[in-house]
Amino acid sequence: LVRVERLKKSFGEHTVLQDVSFAVPEGSVTVILGPSGSGKTTLLRSLNGLELPDAGTVRVSDATVDFADVHPGRRGRLPRPQRQTVDRLTAQSGMVFQAHNLFPHRTAIENVIEGPVVVQRIPREEARSQGVELLAKVGLAEHADKFPYQLSGGQQQRVGIARALALKPKLVLFDEPTSALDPELVGEVLRVIRDLATEGWTMVIVTHEVKFAAQVADQVLFIDGGVVVEHGTPGEVISHPQNARTQDFLRRIL
Ligand code: ATP
Repeated sequence: LVRVERLKKSFGEHTVLQDVSFAVPEGSVTVILGPSGSGKTTLLRSLNGLELPDAGTVRVSDATVDFADVHPGRRGRLPRPQRQTVDRLTAQSGMVFQAHNLFPHRTAIENVIEGPVVVQRIPREEARSQGVELLAKVGLAEHADKFPYQLSGGQQQRVGIARALALKPKLVLFDEPTSALDPELVGEVLRVIRDLATEGWTMVIVTHEVKFAAQVADQVLFIDGGVVVEHGTPGEVISHPQNARTQDFLRRIL
């Protein structure tokens, strides 16, 4: 479903992604592990065009962007045809952020249906019934009409997941979805992600939760210094890492 080839990205002198390639089969879960600052978030954001790499290609479903052809002009704006190509890529994915980014003045259900109503122009009533189903899926059917401040951090993050699924994306991206949560709230969010994996959603997850990664991932990428250092099944990368950098990282985190 996803193919990433030879991605490169620098911020000024600082090379953040050096030459990253991998593929994600449909219905599979890919976990990206790596030390702080290794380029995980930059890589994830490149998959949906939130970050524009300097070179390399990303294909998600039938949307392909060759980033060598994408050059922001003055004030960071993309020329219209390039914008449209990137927008097509963006439309393939739903993203769950570290902090949920919910609209504070809107209820859970209003947050979930914002995309379908505004972007897809689905009638509000229809969007609402789909949204209630999504909230039920993440265990929040009874909380649909609450505002974010009335929900716990874990519940807010689950609303964020329902919102990411609302546009029925081909791919769901998670950027450290539990790292801003109190420890006792982490489990409920990981449980929801595990259920989505069972349902066959294609997901790419940046996380520091190595045990969870071992349970849920079909493949694990360990990146360090903007390079995929090691790549394989959780049994290979997490249980039997071959590379000294992976071994060192896992020793420190476990
Ligand atoms: P963490 O686990 O701490 O979130 P990460 O592996 O996700 O780290 P990135 O967020 O991808 O790493 O960042 C990689 C490097 O790129 C960091 O050194 C960061 O400071 C730098 N960086 C990221 N975004 C920008 C930006 N917009 N401008 C300049 N430097 C940036």
